[in-house]
Amino acid sequence: MSEPDSDTLDPTSLRTPIVAVLGHVDHGKTSLLDKIRGSAVIEGEAGAITQHIGATAVPLDIISSIAGDLVDPEDFDLPGLLFIDTPGHHSFTTLRSRGGALADIAILVVDVNDGFQPQTLEALDILKRSQTPFIVAANKIDTVPGWDPNEDTPINATYDDQTDRVSSRLDESLYEIIGNLSDEGFSADLYWRVQNFQRNVGVVPVSAMTGEGVPDLLAVMMGLSQRYMKEEMEIDVAGPGVGTVLEVKEEKGFGTTIDTVLYDGTIRADDTLVVGGMNDPIVTEVRALLQPRPLAEIRTESRFEKVDEVGAAAGIKVAAPELADAMAGAPVRVVRDRDLEAVITEVRAELADIAVDTEEQGVVVKADTLGSLEAMADALEEAELPIVRAEVGDVAPRDVSVASTAEDPKQQVILGFNVDVLDDAHQRAETDDVRIFADEVIYQLIEEYEEFVEELERAQQDTILENIVRPARFRILPDHTFRQNDPAVVGVEVNSGTIQNNTNVVKYENNEPERVGQIKGIQEQGEDVDEARAGNRVSVAIDGPTVGRQIEEDDELWTQIPEKHAKILEQELASEIPGDELEALNMYLDKQRSRDPFWGK
Ligand code: GDP
Repeated sequence: MSEPDSDTLDPTSLRTPIVAVLGHVDHGKTSLLDKIRGSAVIEGEAGAITQHIGATAVPLDIISSIAGDLVDPEDFDLPGLLFIDTPGHHSFTTLRSRGGALADIAILVVDVNDGFQPQTLEALDILKRSQTPFIVAANKIDTVPGWDPNEDTPINATYDDQTDRVSSRLDESLYEIIGNLSDEGFSADLYWRVQNFQRNVGVVPVSAMTGEGVPDLLAVMMGLSQRYMKEEMEIDVAGPGVGTVLEVKEEKGFGTTIDTVLYDGTIRADDTLVVGGMNDPIVTEVRALLQPRPLAEIRTESRFEKVDEVGAAAGIKVAAPELADAMAGAPVRVVRDRDLEAVITEVRAELADIAVDTEEQGVVVKADTLGSLEAMADALEEAELPIVRAEVGDVAPRDVSVASTAEDPKQQVILGFNVDVLDDAHQRAETDDVRIFADEVIYQLIEEYEEFVEELERAQQDTILENIVRPARFRILPDHTFRQNDPAVVGVEVNSGTIQNNTNVVKYENNEPERVGQIKGIQEQGEDVDEARAGNRVSVAIDGPTVGRQIEEDDELWTQIPEKHAKILEQELASEIPGDELEALNMYLDKQRSRDPFWGK
């Protein structure tokens, strides 16, 4: 799959591609990384794989010994792969670099039994948007019933070893995944059938448990990087470092530190840095560069060991003053011998590029990182939902204050993606009548919100309907006068619409409406009721008229609808009320408008 490169590039000028592993919870991201790390430790000389902060570097020679015949180190000049090992799209969304995703390449892990799940779809969405090349690891093939495991072998060897029944069961699951990918707009196939990995997504069957297929996975990743990404890997190794904040963490003895993925140049222990902050770029001096201490050496003091310099690509913890306002996902730049103001301008520009557009009115959005905030903003834009404030961080009482000022109850809302809701924010939200939605899947968050809006709209319409006089046309039945007057009690049949207690009743004489009285009681089969619907026969007490004078048996009567109510009914509620009620309304409007064409308009 890979080709020897004829360019005579100094290999030291090519950095390690950065790999992100993402997928639905429990599909095996951690296990897969553990397996790769474990195999690397077994295969390699001690110390050949290096544990970084938030990442593991696996050098080419180790990849080649794990992958066996599938990777000939002679074919490659990239130094290996750097796996970001805080797995999940949660961290992946953080991983932004100038103008794109920080991860150069990604592995989307899908459980062959479980198939596509919400976070799988979300991960795909993020991959699509950031245009990150990826392959799919169809994981847990060892769980196919009847599977005969062959530890750590390439897929074709173990596949040939299975019975026809077992291999066709695996095929079925794999084709389902390929079908799902195609539904999402990705043309995909089993990786050995893929000719052009830029156009097609390769699916690699693996087991993070038995290691089957892991050689293939590493070979495909390596080949893909070498073939399509080599140019992007050419960096100025000794230049001033550029990176992205992965996490902001308090560390005993060091104060606030930033776990940083460096993707260009170097950071030195005496460098000045500019870091993206909540408000403005932070200018600070490195106090210490920290890497995890190898397990054997953890004795007393710190889990970390200080280093003088690191070069891209690497994960490093930076201890420095003034970092409290640093944000996950924000840029980090080394100043070194450049003009400080120029570097601040660069960082500011990068931040502006990620910044979310806000409006005068809208919902409050909180997310764990700048990248996830951006992903949220994109999704909300698609859902045509304006944002009044978008910030990195947990949901705090002051967010509730902002949300409570929204004019529209639908916007008295906070949407939190991958964040915690502080206790006092919960309390405040209850008193201020602000709704907080928190979830780890963006589209579920939006769905929950949309359900809330629907509910709210239904409730609003219900209250409007409750306060509005409902149209009704009804007829006094012959021989059904139970009382002549004070009040008149007659049997009626509702022809269309709904009659309700306490509504006024009119009758039309030569198209002139005449108010005859007010309904003061409705009984259905001897029981008091509040309303009667079309088709019902009930007796009504009408305060005002006398049967035989203002009203007669067989008269057609109407509930009297105030003009304002008629207007709301016709213009806003026409689709909410039952068809027969709409019919009564239209007949009523026709009668009124035959006298005044603009009535109720
Ligand atoms: P994550 O949430 O994606 O990081 O998933 P984990 O790596 O924690 O795996 C979830 C569960 O699936 C764990 O119990 C793993 O032991 C199990 N698991 C992961 N990969 C495999 C596999 O290839 N085969 C089997 N049988 N189990 C697996």
